[in-house]
Amino acid sequence: MSKPSAVHPKLSDVWALTWQRLGPRRLAYAAGLILSLSQSLIMMLDPFIINLVFNALEAREFADVRLIVAAGTAVFFFLTGTFLVGEYLKQDALNGLNTGLMAQAADEAQRLPLEYAQSAHSSDLVQRAAHDTQRMTGILNLLLDRMADQAAMFAMAAAYLLALNWRIALPLLAVSPLILAAGRLIRRRLKAIGSETAEQEAAVRLCLQDALQNLEIVRALGAEDWMTERFARERTRLNRLYARRTWWQQAVMLTTTSLSNLIILVTMLVVGLLAIRGEMALGSLMVYFALVWRINGPLESIGQIWGQVQEQIGASGRVFRLLKAEKEPQAVAGEAPAPSPAQGGLTMNGVSFRYRRFAEPLLPAGPSPAADDEWTVRSIDLELATGTFTALVGPSGSGKSTVAKLAAGLLFPHSGRIRICGLDPREDAEAARALVAYVPQTPHMFGGTIRDNIAVGRPGASDEDVTAAARAAMAHPFIVGLPDGYDTVIREHGRTLSGGQKQRIALARAVLSGRPVWILDEATSALDAETEREIIAMLLRLKATGHAILFVAHRLAAVTGADEIVVMQAGSVAQRGTHEELLRDRQGLYRRLWESFAPMQAASR
Ligand code: ADP
Repeated sequence: MSKPSAVHPKLSDVWALTWQRLGPRRLAYAAGLILSLSQSLIMMLDPFIINLVFNALEAREFADVRLIVAAGTAVFFFLTGTFLVGEYLKQDALNGLNTGLMAQAADEAQRLPLEYAQSAHSSDLVQRAAHDTQRMTGILNLLLDRMADQAAMFAMAAAYLLALNWRIALPLLAVSPLILAAGRLIRRRLKAIGSETAEQEAAVRLCLQDALQNLEIVRALGAEDWMTERFARERTRLNRLYARRTWWQQAVMLTTTSLSNLIILVTMLVVGLLAIRGEMALGSLMVYFALVWRINGPLESIGQIWGQVQEQIGASGRVFRLLKAEKEPQAVAGEAPAPSPAQGGLTMNGVSFRYRRFAEPLLPAGPSPAADDEWTVRSIDLELATGTFTALVGPSGSGKSTVAKLAAGLLFPHSGRIRICGLDPREDAEAARALVAYVPQTPHMFGGTIRDNIAVGRPGASDEDVTAAARAAMAHPFIVGLPDGYDTVIREHGRTLSGGQKQRIALARAVLSGRPVWILDEATSALDAETEREIIAMLLRLKATGHAILFVAHRLAAVTGADEIVVMQAGSVAQRGTHEELLRDRQGLYRRLWESFAPMQAASR
């Protein structure tokens, strides 16, 4: 579990973000707040009516008593109706705010650097976007609704008491605000607990998701008990935090209510004495008893709500760290140069890259490496001209996939330059990526039909286009063999499809995208040799129509016809040339790889 950062957002940060996100709903929310203030008026209604009724009784005006009760009842129903409308308006605005914050967090999570997204568990990002954002809505609601409500009730009760008898009102109003000061230190503690609890909730979610998403492998390994124990351990830790939170919340409540009760006790003694001496009317005494709770009660609540606000601010730090984290470069509107077909293909000049470790608060740990051997890939030069087929080969871990991801604009070089059809991905990653068909070894299948999965890069493609792409990628025969053909629903991550079927769907996606640069990272590894040969024949046809192709290959036999083979070793380019040229170098890595693979390749042909 990542350690929570000690840095919490400020209340002003939360306020600015939520208020801005509320956008055009502000008016409805403000109207809702005003209308729901009628709840405070309802609370004030009975002391007011008690006073009127007692005065009327003292004056023996019994007709007035009836009138007051009837009018009071009518006002009560009117205020209740107003309150309900206000509640609806507020809730509707807050639902909109929740949606907006969630969408913003999800959008920012999608723009995190790929290195971060790969090193974090997806459940952590889901928790931030789907759950932690709601805490910010909670803060706005606590401040503007519950706190403002209590403040309004306090103000009305205080004004009424002052008007009634300022001599007893003033001492009470002078000491009561002390209630707010009580529990200040404890409230600060709640902020840290809020932050720790949110982190631990994410850890529990991660455990659950890990176990449930990977049932097959968990069962195969017999790791059910291990998973259950891990979950129980994290959950126990979370329960301890919940218990600590409840303890400190109770501590805030205890300090505020104790002080409040003390104040009420002392002032009641004074008022009681005044009444005994006959210096106060019976009606005033009754009203005082009703009002004193309506003055101290709201102050107690404000103290406790403030504690909750602190706790939620601590917890919402997870969203702020996501929003403030480094993001992928995006073009400033109107500044990105348009890709030019004349500059087609892809070039890499002196590209070096290292995977950075990311830690909370989502900032990369440490600067770029100084020593040469710390780079994952270094000084890579590559030229994929239009109408060429380049192969990238080398031992496992030599950096082939990293080069493929750099070429696809998914990772960004720390030094050197990449141009995709003339565009620098560091200046506008999205535009550069839109020119590349990237097919990884284990392509992701989305929820939906096979047709949706092929058309994912080109929504709105016609059925004919989808079928033509599937035919080109050798996927059509197996798709029509499925019970529902192209309408077969793919289960989570395509678990019901074989590795080779998923690869062919991914290749069909790439065909349909019609992009000029193709990066295939062992994209045919799960196919039989014959299907792979047919796919390569398709790639050669694409090459003939001006596509630039980079093919990362494990099976060397697949790429003997490449225009250039680039051989990687320990992050650098060790050799380059055609198959024949490379074989001529008897001491070269390629020759060694070829010889060690030759018997297997012969067998697979
Ligand atoms: P290849 O494709 O040749 O097998 P890779 O490019 O996948 O090699 O990996 C090169 C090196 O980078 C390996 O040492 C690997 O452990 C490391 N690596 C790959 N992906 C990541 C990642 N997301 N974070 C950190 N290190 C990584």
